[in-house]
Amino acid sequence: MSDLYLIKIGEIALKKGNKALFEKQLKANIKKIMRPHPTRVTIRSGRFYLEIEGVSEEYVCERLSKVFGITGFTRSYSCAKELDALEEKAFLVAWQNMDAGNGMTFKVETRRVDKSLPMDNYEFSAEIGGRVLDKFPELKVDVRNPDWIIHMELREKGYVYGYTHKGPGGLPVHCAGKGMLLLSGGIDSPVAGYLMAKRGMTLDAVYFHTPPYTSPESLDKVKDLAKILAPWCSGIHLYTVPFTDVQVQINRSVRPETTTLHSRAAMMKIAQSIAEKRGDLALITGEALSQVASQTLESLAYTNSAVDLPVFRPLIGMDKEETILISRKIKAFETSIQPFDDCCTLFSPDHPEVKPDLKKTQEDWKTIEDMDRLLEEAEAKAEKIFIPVSGDIED
Ligand code: ATP
Ligand code: MG
Repeated sequence: MSDLYLIKIGEIALKKGNKALFEKQLKANIKKIMRPHPTRVTIRSGRFYLEIEGVSEEYVCERLSKVFGITGFTRSYSCAKELDALEEKAFLVAWQNMDAGNGMTFKVETRRVDKSLPMDNYEFSAEIGGRVLDKFPELKVDVRNPDWIIHMELREKGYVYGYTHKGPGGLPVHCAGKGMLLLSGGIDSPVAGYLMAKRGMTLDAVYFHTPPYTSPESLDKVKDLAKILAPWCSGIHLYTVPFTDVQVQINRSVRPETTTLHSRAAMMKIAQSIAEKRGDLALITGEALSQVASQTLESLAYTNSAVDLPVFRPLIGMDKEETILISRKIKAFETSIQPFDDCCTLFSPDHPEVKPDLKKTQEDWKTIEDMDRLLEEAEAKAEKIFIPVSGDIED
């Protein structure tokens, strides 16, 4: 027999013109994240109903909590349409709410669809409410403004629900175009990707590695981060680009203070080239204003000027602490802080330019010999893997 979950949706209900499209996408995303378990998702008057077989409530809740577009969800317990069975489920809902610290006042609301039953809505609510009070004397009934509600629907079976898990909010992934995330092994870029996926964007990702200066472990770390992102963004393609020749050429050609700036520009150019082939309409980075020398306004103006696609920097106005909170929430933090070398740290100068002159830095770039060819070669050697929503890598 299948279990039933009620799912509340957020902003998508407001998007009149696109509503049907958004609902269809959300339905598909829910089914996808539950694979391979058999599911049925139905939509009735703006509410989603998920029926699923053979998996624990804990598993379903963990999965649903990663589907953008969902604001809340609750397990609806089915039982016989008789008082003792309804009571048992009502106790469970009451206990879950108390355990979560949701408050101590409640009411019972009944919808009796099966009119053959001997009691009406009010009588059912009063009877079950009384039994809950007997069981948990510390609770109080408040019909006007309760902390939580036990809902009972009496149809072909009895359904009892009322303990609501929080969903992640946002918009269903795949509803807002595609973007290319520059994913490093740090704390910031996975959070940036999470935030854009939250607004419905489909994510591709690209990582630049510098073997033998960076270790295979650094690459594994980025794959692990992509795996962590995969359920949130309903699967992700990850490109890994060998960047050593580009990096070495930059370091040999320009003033040491500007190497990071130019390597960031080179990354953006390669990312843009891959993005355009994939139909991605934006680049995404984890930059925050003035966090480091390459993220001052002047530096960002330079790296921006290297590409034509819009560059989204969702962390631009965030403090590191705020970013870390999100990183912890999505369980990326422990992976992000593992100490493997990143090409940026290895090749970064002791005294980086903080306020680069735009024109001058652009002129410097043009003096780097063979750059176009090196960028093309790096891109040609890129490897692609797909990480499905389950987080298991598929080559
Ligand atoms: P992060 O924590 O995301 O690494 P950061 O604060 O360490 O960011 P930088 O290392 O200066 O900052 O990188 C700024 C941004 O440039 C990153 O957020 C990421 O989007 C991109 N980036 C940097 N290094 C790489 C890389 N090796 N591969 C892909 N993208 C990168
Ligand atoms: Mg970094």
